[in-house]
Amino acid sequence: MANEADNLDRAADLTRARAEAQIAAVRLQAAPEQVQNPDGTWPVTECVVCDADLGKRAELGKIRCVRCQERRERGGAQWPR
Ligand SMILES: [Zn+2]
Repeated sequence: MANEADNLDRAADLTRARAEAQIAAVRLQAAPEQVQNPDGTWPVTECVVCDADLGKRAELGKIRCVRCQERRERGGAQWPR
């Protein structure tokens, strides 16, 4: 039954690879999009799409307001940025 064991190994490998890809995708989504300046300020404090004030979102390393971020995640890529 060596063949069946090989198949199980392969299935486990596929499952693992898929889980790792999903984790990487989530990590990328949560990752900061800008880096804080040494003086504590943020290089981007306004939404790069609509120029709205980012407020606390800048401190989370975000560069888009909630509205533009949601639009982007929905896949509405009307803007190249
Ligand atoms: Zn915006």
